Amino acid sequence: MDNVRKTIIIGSGCAGLTAAIYAARANLKPLVVQGHEPGGQLSLTTLVENFPGFPEGIQGPELIENMRRQAERFGAEYLTGDLVSADLRNYPFSLQVGKDVLRTETLIIASGASARWLGLPGEQALIGHGVSSCATCDGFFFSGKEIVVIGGGDSAMEEALFLTRFATKVTLIHRREQFRASKIMLDRARAHPQIKFLPNTVVDDVYDVAKKEVTGLRLRNVKSGESWDFPTSAMFLGIGHIPNTRMFGGQLDLDQDGYLIARDYVFTRVPGVFACGDVQDRRYRQAVTAAGTGCMAALEVEKFLEARGE
Ligand code: NAP
Repeated sequence: MDNVRKTIIIGSGCAGLTAAIYAARANLKPLVVQGHEPGGQLSLTTLVENFPGFPEGIQGPELIENMRRQAERFGAEYLTGDLVSADLRNYPFSLQVGKDVLRTETLIIASGASARWLGLPGEQALIGHGVSSCATCDGFFFSGKEIVVIGGGDSAMEEALFLTRFATKVTLIHRREQFRASKIMLDRARAHPQIKFLPNTVVDDVYDVAKKEVTGLRLRNVKSGESWDFPTSAMFLGIGHIPNTRMFGGQLDLDQDGYLIARDYVFTRVPGVFACGDVQDRRYRQAVTAAGTGCMAALEVEKFLEARGE
């Protein structure tokens, strides 16, 4: 088939790049399509301490860059552009990426998940002006200031701890009394003298859109109902992620939160289309598990092509 790729990988995070390493080593010359968040969540994180093989830890962006070069060495190619649409009903599959239409015999969806926002009136207008979902990217701008982190999971703890490098005080606001975070992360945050906890509290608004900077939040205690203004210079969100599956609705099975449903780890309902990493994993969501399913997806691509006599 002319101009038809053997395999295309959507997403350049840990899952997509691991799939690319395996597919490239199988001589399938994978094309990795990377969107507006290249490198995925690892590129937005700091020290990764739990990826096997790095006893002292490794910086997330460095880990992802290593994977990228590793795949490239075996022949993976990269294309930057947003996936506009996908036709998985006709074979070979076709994808529109920006203005290009690409055709492929197999597809690996590793499009990951993007940060969740609170949906407050002033929130979107203040992104980049004190509202952020990436402590690593934006923490530096708040040196010597007091800031807030929202969330009760590991991401929120990690962000809060990281931001103590810059901020004089970090207030961690969480909507409940119980925390989802692992004990080790929670204990570290609790023990840190610059981090203060504000549980049972939600944010009803963020000020000040007119000034194009964050000056404070409207907070509410969910138990007492009491509301008050809380001055702060920044609001960092660590409230989880939303899977990037919009392009596949109607063609592949999604669960109620939009995660791709994969059978036997990586099989979607369409033969030849595989899913790996956070886009199909709402349970583990670890770099190492994303890499694991990325590997599986690439091995299944090989088997699929073999079965077609290629
Ligand atoms: P998460 O575990 O799903 O936690 C999200 C937190 O945000 C929860 O506490 C949740 O509150 C809160 N939240 C969600 N929507 C909210 C809303 N609209 N308003 C207010 N609060 C809201 O997500 P995560 O922290 O990003 O972690 C995801 C996975 O990655 C986990 O498996 C975690 O262990 C892993 N991770 C590991 C590390 C590490 O080991 N270094 C670092 C980061 C992440 P409720 O609890 O009330 O639902």
